Amino acid sequence: MDVPYFVEVDEARRIAAEALSLLPLPAPVEVTLSAAHGRILAADLHSLVDDPPFDNSAMDGFAMRESDVPTVPTTLPIQSTVPAAAHDDMAPLEPGHAVRIMTGAPMPPGANAILPIERCEVGDGEVTLTAPVRTGFVRKQGENLRKGAAGLFAGAHLTPAKVGLCATMGHPTVPVRARLRVAVIPTGDELRPAGEPLRHGEVYESNSHGLVGLVRGMGHEPYHHPAVEDTLDGLRKALDAAAEASDMIVTSGGVSMGEWDLVRRLMEDEGDLRYWRVKIRPGSPPLFGLWKGTPLFGLPGNPVSSHVVFRLLVADAMRAWTGATGPIETTVRARLLDPVKSTNDCLTLRRVTVSLEDGEMVARQPRHQGSGNLESLASADALTLLPAGASGAIGETIDVMLL
Ligand code: AMP
Ligand code: MG
Repeated sequence: MDVPYFVEVDEARRIAAEALSLLPLPAPVEVTLSAAHGRILAADLHSLVDDPPFDNSAMDGFAMRESDVPTVPTTLPIQSTVPAAAHDDMAPLEPGHAVRIMTGAPMPPGANAILPIERCEVGDGEVTLTAPVRTGFVRKQGENLRKGAAGLFAGAHLTPAKVGLCATMGHPTVPVRARLRVAVIPTGDELRPAGEPLRHGEVYESNSHGLVGLVRGMGHEPYHHPAVEDTLDGLRKALDAAAEASDMIVTSGGVSMGEWDLVRRLMEDEGDLRYWRVKIRPGSPPLFGLWKGTPLFGLPGNPVSSHVVFRLLVADAMRAWTGATGPIETTVRARLLDPVKSTNDCLTLRRVTVSLEDGEMVARQPRHQGSGNLESLASADALTLLPAGASGAIGETIDVMLL
């Protein structure tokens, strides 16, 4: 077989990214902010205004000239009150006076300092300032972002904070990458949908449910296919239809060495296979290629494996293809409190729980690590990123990828 076989993770990523870079990507679309959550920004976004748009108070309290309060306590006459939405031209602050001000209200011309209300004793038409006034409580026009400056960059994954920032910058709509339509196709004769009775030898089909969520989490649109039986004809038909209707196909099952591993056989014989098998454990059987021009990831059938391979390879390919810089996988260092079994040739992803103990991140492996044990993934906080040959001994500090 002349396609790359049993490749390093980086090599698998490179092969997929290169193949995808040659394929057409659906054109960006403009969406309202309420539809922008979780999407991938398609262009740099510049602010239409200064943020904040005017000098304003960071505190409820009094505004005054710093030089009018050389010592404390000092008592100043109250000139007026500035509410939060003060549209009209404001009278300048008279020398030796204070103005009552709300959080976010514009600074009166001439004022340059604030004292929070908790430090003020308000009397009849006058205020006694009991602590030094602070220029730092003035939020200066444009101190966060200047009009015209880029606040967000193409490829950003629009988290809630970033969607909020779009509005702060004055954008009611934003250009985002079209969602990739991703066909999720589980394969296997033994798979039944939850809700139906199981006969001996059958299991509930679970991979597609996790994969659909993972696709959505990337900002894309899953097409949830019912399980396909292990026949070449049935599988070919399902792949043909998916290639027609979607931008990417993600199958699970049928990519190992067995006679019934028909996704692999079909991709070898009739598809355009680009790699098969990757140096990760669990999840070493995956393949990537094109089916009738549509990129296809063939994930392993074992439930933990399909999930892990999506996070490591499919998510990376989606980011590469769409130029997305997120969602990112967060990696932290943690010290092992249980031994973790490594392998000689694979990146090993064991399911661990992590917690902060005495200021240190520690990892435990409380569950048996069979790749069919989905409960071990559901109850985990992180996956170990143990390089090939690492010891995985108690006390070792390793990288873990948060789930
Ligand atoms: P395969 O990769 O097709 O040989 O499947 C490996 C193991 O994963 C077998 O025990 C399958 O029953 C199981 N499996 C495959 N696909 C799924 C699925 N979609 N949901 C749950 N288990 C699956
Ligand atoms: Mg199977």
